[in-house]
Amino acid sequence: MSRQNILVWFRNDLRTQDCETLYRAAETVKQKGGNIFPVYCFDPRHFGETAFGFAKTGAFRAKFLLESVTNLRENLRSLHSDLIIRIGKPEDVLPELVQTLDIGAIYYHQEVTDEELQVTKNLRSQIQKLGTDIALREFWGSTLLHPDDLPFAIAKLPELFTHFRKQVERDLQVRDPLRITNYELPNPRDHHNKIDFGEVPKLETFNLTEPSLSDRQVLQFKGGETAAWQRLDHYFWQSDRLQVYKETRNGMLYADDSSKLSPWLALGCLSPRSIYAQVKKYESDRLANDSTYWLIFELLWRDYFRFIAAKHGNKLFQITGLRGLALPWREDWQRFEIWQTGKTGYPLVDANMRELSATGYMSNRGRQNVASFLTKNLGINWQMGAEWFESLLIDYDPCSNWGNWNYTAGIGNDARGFRFFNINKQSQDYDPQGEYLKHWLPELAHLPASKIHQPWQLQAIEQKRFEVRLGVDYPRPVVDLFASAKANEAIYNKA
Ligand SMILES: Cc1cc2nc3c(=O)[nH]c(=O)nc-3n(C[C@H](O)[C@H](O)[C@H](O)COP(=O)(O)OP(=O)(O)OC[C@H]3O[C@@H](n4cnc5c(N)ncnc54)[C@H](O)[C@@H]3O)c2cc1C
Repeated sequence: MSRQNILVWFRNDLRTQDCETLYRAAETVKQKGGNIFPVYCFDPRHFGETAFGFAKTGAFRAKFLLESVTNLRENLRSLHSDLIIRIGKPEDVLPELVQTLDIGAIYYHQEVTDEELQVTKNLRSQIQKLGTDIALREFWGSTLLHPDDLPFAIAKLPELFTHFRKQVERDLQVRDPLRITNYELPNPRDHHNKIDFGEVPKLETFNLTEPSLSDRQVLQFKGGETAAWQRLDHYFWQSDRLQVYKETRNGMLYADDSSKLSPWLALGCLSPRSIYAQVKKYESDRLANDSTYWLIFELLWRDYFRFIAAKHGNKLFQITGLRGLALPWREDWQRFEIWQTGKTGYPLVDANMRELSATGYMSNRGRQNVASFLTKNLGINWQMGAEWFESLLIDYDPCSNWGNWNYTAGIGNDARGFRFFNINKQSQDYDPQGEYLKHWLPELAHLPASKIHQPWQLQAIEQKRFEVRLGVDYPRPVVDLFASAKANEAIYNKA
């Protein structure tokens, strides 16, 4: 029997629209016959521990993933297809399916980071062992720009974002999203072998418990392609917030301060090309301004980090970073826990860290500040911070996370040396009334805006008046902001 059937292996591309693997598989079987078997594997390695002992996929992200896979199955079913779900390593699960389902080819989206590449490599060698002529076809689907459309080869990618952006913007080539319309997918249930499609596991399967919802959380994220489009529809079309994105994107408190599309982008529930097409539609139907441009600009940051990861490989994850800079980072667990739990005595850092722990999300402004504080003020190993983010962030993406940490820790490919965030100023600039701080730090609720950014300056009488006792209700600063930065700068310059 000729093997015409195709296995579409879903990874971080949990969508049916603008999904090239599915699209090409549909095209192929239309021409040549055969069936399509979409499959998702929950890889047990994703639920192990990070090097520093955190849950590699914490409960927030795991919940978002389960919701996204559930929705992928629903959306495939509405296209008359279905999703096979397995718990196991893809290199074990897929060869088995290849044999039972007469598979001739596996279609999947390419990844760029080490762990993911290793899985592909293992799969390749397992498939080769089957001794049959099974094709592995890779597609690229994670970025706005296709690598083939870049004005340079990945190996020649400019090291600085600005150079990258200027070159690609000269003649921006964004491909149109690919659409699967109804009736184009064959029904995998028609196969002569009875298939066990499997069930979406529960959090408990991975020894995780349902994360409790915080009543302070301003946006409930729900995984899946359907929810992704609902969020886009709300942000672009219903609330019209896209037109003020540039002015509001640094806000930390409100749901619509920024697009909040990152969790869906990270799991591929929505493609950046689809977002781009919607921005273009918005620009022609409503208006084009700096804000509409700026959202694309941010998506280029995302692309840049992915291409940088593809160019530099494992350096991204190594302690010396992309620059290969050996710094004597500290592994001070006591201070790390102070940072993790939001008890540094710097309200901006603490509010953001508490938001992260309570929701699995933190704004970009917050991330930059807390990462700067960990590395430039506490001098703590940036990898510990990156792993803590990996564990908690619902939008965790290896390229964006480790790339941004490289950047903030000063070991990235930007040549700007030791730059640290002045937390006091950032706090005043981006939360002048202290609304965000009060939201996450209720113990500071009675402080006026003029006092909330630097509570350590409160006199005894003020502490009484504003009902906050330093060192009791709210901690004193763990380090002096400027002295600690100066000391770490000296270490940095020496290296
Ligand atoms: C230390 C650190 C770690 C980070 N880790 C991640 C991560 O694991 N996953 C992740 O998606 N982003 C990460 N970011 C980037 C950024 O903080 C988030 O993408 C952003 O906060 C998501 O919110 P949003 O969707 O509302 O962003 P918006 O402001 O609405 O931006 C739109 C989209 O552009 C992209 N984007 C924006 N800023 C960046 C950036 N600096 N780098 C890469 N892409 C960007 C995101 O995909 C985002 O969804 C990190 C930033 C820092 C400083």
